[in-house]
Amino acid sequence: MQEKLQRQEPMIVVIVTPLNSIMEDQVSSLKSKVISACFLSYDGSVVSTFDDGDDEVGNTNEEDAEGKVRLPTSMSISDLKNGCSNLIYAHPEALQSKEMMKILHSRTYQERVCAIVVDEAHMYIVLDGVISIYDFVLKRCHNYFRGDEFRPSFKRLGELTCIFPKAGHIALTATATPTKIKDLAAGLQYSSECVISLNPDRPNIYLEVLTRPPNVRKYEKYDSLINPISKELCEKLVEFPVTIMYGEFGSFGILLPICSHDLKEEQYTGEAIPENRMFAQYHTDYTQDMKRHFVNELTKETPKLRLVMATVALGMGLNAPSVTRIIHCRPPTTLEEYLQEMGRAGRKGQQAEAIIYYNNSDISKSRKGMSQSMISYCKNEQTCLRLQLVQHFGFNHVVYSGESIKCCSNCKRVFSRGLLE
Ligand SMILES: [Zn+2]
Repeated sequence: MQEKLQRQEPMIVVIVTPLNSIMEDQVSSLKSKVISACFLSYDGSVVSTFDDGDDEVGNTNEEDAEGKVRLPTSMSISDLKNGCSNLIYAHPEALQSKEMMKILHSRTYQERVCAIVVDEAHMYIVLDGVISIYDFVLKRCHNYFRGDEFRPSFKRLGELTCIFPKAGHIALTATATPTKIKDLAAGLQYSSECVISLNPDRPNIYLEVLTRPPNVRKYEKYDSLINPISKELCEKLVEFPVTIMYGEFGSFGILLPICSHDLKEEQYTGEAIPENRMFAQYHTDYTQDMKRHFVNELTKETPKLRLVMATVALGMGLNAPSVTRIIHCRPPTTLEEYLQEMGRAGRKGQQAEAIIYYNNSDISKSRKGMSQSMISYCKNEQTCLRLQLVQHFGFNHVVYSGESIKCCSNCKRVFSRGLLE
């Protein structure tokens, strides 16, 4: 890598990332900084040529039906071949298409690629039979991932390490236990790895675990959770903390009627159209435009949109600094997932909170993918939740150093009990 950095020609970094939204955000952010970047996107299971292609690289052979590769309109395939972009974002599928493989093996790329970065690397921990919860997460996000097959290209990422043996290779993730880091390094075929890890504790997020009533129907209803939230929204309006409620798709129908009933004409900021509502449901049945609108709203400093009920499809790659509360109507099945999802609160470092509601069926061992660590987290009524969370990721201390009453619901309980005694 050092040798490559001494060369005169600009180097190329390839960033593998699983979601379009992440690539789009990153590339537009880099463009605003006048840094040359592009992305090769993948959507659905249909093969396509490069959009700008009158070039021979593009082809429509069915045997290449691995993904649809598209370039942003401002860049041609010849530009890509000539290494005009210093940063190339791509799905694994796009990189493993025949045409892209040819480009990666070309002299230009062999000489100029100085680093391969695998972003959101926790999503690739389904390697050689090591099943992680992330396959469930990905399947649930069927907006991006259709069908039940886990994207097989994820398993082939190690090939990139072999194609560029002299480049630097970096895998980034916000959530991986020490064991999973080892799995990841092996799957990516890293011959020797240096692990840099930071304590995942988020001191500005208050952690709380609460119980909720038993399920009454096939898709449990969340009336008892949404009613108080709706009342709070009614009372606070624009002062309502921007909140994401994660729930099961089948229970979504109830947010809009409850909030509409409580807020009446106050539900809109401006004209009475859905785009101006203070609350929304986010799931795959909405149009792309509508979903984009919700995401754009949430990324604003002061969004009109204050409450969103969503599946986990909302969040991956989302940088929404205004969100200060994450509520799980039902726990995720692993602490890795939980850390990812609750970490979407308090991104600016402001005070935030993360609340999990659960009942016995939510944490039943018969629930698909349910981990013992998640069950223990929900059932823990004695020790610090924050400490329990970081211990799962191999750390034995928390970063938080404030008052125990503001640490987590267990520390608060212990503190309050102490006051009574
Ligand atoms: Zn605590």
